[in-house]
Amino acid sequence: MFCWLSRLFRGLSRPTRRTTQLIWGSFSRSLVLSSQRRIPELSSFVARTNTCGELRSSYLGQEVTLCGWIQYRRQNIFLVLRDFHGLVQVIIPQDESAASVKKILCEAPMESVVQVSGTVISRPPGQENPKMPTGEIEIKVKTAKLLNSCKKLPFEIKDFVKKTEALRLRYRYLDLRGVQMQYNLRLRSQMVMKMREYLCNLHGFVDIETPTLFKRTPGGAKEFVIPSREPGKFYSLPQSPQQFKQLLMVGGLDRYFQVARCYRDEGSRPDRQPEFTQIDIEMSFVEQTGIQSLIEGLLQYSWPSDKDPVVVPFPSMTFAEALASYGTDKPDTRFGMKIVDISDMFRNTKVGFLQDALSKPQGTIKAICIPEGEKYLKRKDIESIRKFAADHFNQEVLPIFLKTSNNWNSPVAKFIMEEQGLGLIRLLETQEEDVVLLTAGEHKKACSLLGKLRLECADLLEARGVVLRDPALFSFLWVVDFPLFFPKEENPEELEAAHHPFTAPHPSDIHLLYTEPQKVRSQHYDLVLNGSEIGGGSIRIHDAELQHYILATVLKEDVKLLSHLLQALDYGAPPHGGIAIGLDRLTCLVTGAPSIRDVIAFPKSFQGHDLMSNAPDSIPPEELKPYHIQVSWPTDSETEKSSLNHPCHPES
Ligand code: ASP
Repeated sequence: MFCWLSRLFRGLSRPTRRTTQLIWGSFSRSLVLSSQRRIPELSSFVARTNTCGELRSSYLGQEVTLCGWIQYRRQNIFLVLRDFHGLVQVIIPQDESAASVKKILCEAPMESVVQVSGTVISRPPGQENPKMPTGEIEIKVKTAKLLNSCKKLPFEIKDFVKKTEALRLRYRYLDLRGVQMQYNLRLRSQMVMKMREYLCNLHGFVDIETPTLFKRTPGGAKEFVIPSREPGKFYSLPQSPQQFKQLLMVGGLDRYFQVARCYRDEGSRPDRQPEFTQIDIEMSFVEQTGIQSLIEGLLQYSWPSDKDPVVVPFPSMTFAEALASYGTDKPDTRFGMKIVDISDMFRNTKVGFLQDALSKPQGTIKAICIPEGEKYLKRKDIESIRKFAADHFNQEVLPIFLKTSNNWNSPVAKFIMEEQGLGLIRLLETQEEDVVLLTAGEHKKACSLLGKLRLECADLLEARGVVLRDPALFSFLWVVDFPLFFPKEENPEELEAAHHPFTAPHPSDIHLLYTEPQKVRSQHYDLVLNGSEIGGGSIRIHDAELQHYILATVLKEDVKLLSHLLQALDYGAPPHGGIAIGLDRLTCLVTGAPSIRDVIAFPKSFQGHDLMSNAPDSIPPEELKPYHIQVSWPTDSETEKSSLNHPCHPES
């Protein structure tokens, strides 16, 4: 049960108590080798001599004092004690002279916290437990102290006991006692430690804290607002330290990093939290390749050694290629099923909706091939795929089943000419029992739809036992050459920054800024891991005039809000660039946790609430007075409307 934890501490062997020359196991070998650091002393300064999880046969005969929680008790003879490091079996003394020790250990409710002292002895032959790392030994107790008793728990502290996420979040401090949460948070801490070491000790970066009370800034995500005592004036919580890190470059602190807390009032999404953590980095005199090599080295160095090693350099793909082949800017490259353009083959098609699409200026026909789809996809799956396409993309999707001897079975089979069939087989490399999903329409829309269906079908195939994405595989990818601007969704005539407004244009596209800004590529790069964006950054604009032009003329932003930055760029700002890695998402993928909430000690619920303390909470009107603000309570109909816009999601 503690196998993950023991893997984390593998190699932490102590031949004799208090030996200082301890060597971390493979988990942190790179750390040890790189700096020759001593491993941490896990029992210094406290009331125990050892951790429960570290005891082995090599400790036989030693007198130890342990502190931990009571995990099990059997027949009032055995007790299993747990701490963060593992479990150990304790023998409850049965003789009269130890009646008081027996009383403490037998009467303390489960999960009470106790201190026991005694001798490490070997288990009687045949009673060893090979499943337990401490299974060869047990503790013959001499004294025991009840440190604190435990009331009846809302759930058992055992990972296999099912509990809703809402309950886990409500009693987070209990949930944290579980093996999985302990592993996740300790692995996160070790990765951050190694990142700090790599950045500061090996590459001279400076760890600098930047303010969290800032002001509203244009572009980007919605910010949380903080009232101030000055009437009508508000701070904002920064969505990232972007401006500060650029200003640090102007200030000559030319290699900055920070484990930075960022805040975005963006509503709930499964892989987002209103507050989250980034490894935020900025460097002067750097180009895109320099940042990429730094990040590859950083991840390689901090990667847990119980995982397959990170292979560098990471492959790279342009945004245009990612969209065309995977229908997204964050392709999951662990499996194929790529999108293929088959427009040319269907120029003379008789199928109405294909003909229609091709007659339009940007019309294309695209397809993906689902290996053995015929075997694994049910009729109702195909129907729900077609419904999804119609509901969300207003697109038709045509399924084609490839039968033996290359006969096509499709609603339009009779319209597919032999050469088209053969062409599809060639381009999509289809084999017997594969299913081809075909759609037609404008390039981006058709690709986005097939990109979604590709992932959907991968989930369906995996749910039916096909292994498409090896869980041990970490597939990193740089996505580069993004457009500098995207048309705004709500008003496509206007442009918004694809990354943020401080991103520099691609040097070979600068001339287009003044004529066709929508065609300008940027020096923005994203890092993708297994289909999730785990980082993004750019080379920045360091020329005040260019920055002013982009803000005021292209993006139509209020430049006054950024006058401090524009001014700073004018005072000899060095060329600079940076990146931010999303620590929560990265740790989530590394640990294989189902949600980023599982790698954050005290996360918010799906609706942005802290279910343990009930934040956000109301404040009495008199406490709002100093801020010169008043709550304008929504009317019943407004409340109803907002609950329709944000349908109630279980608080998890
Ligand atoms: N501040 C950016 C972000 O949070 C990252 C960067 O450009 O360095 O996405």
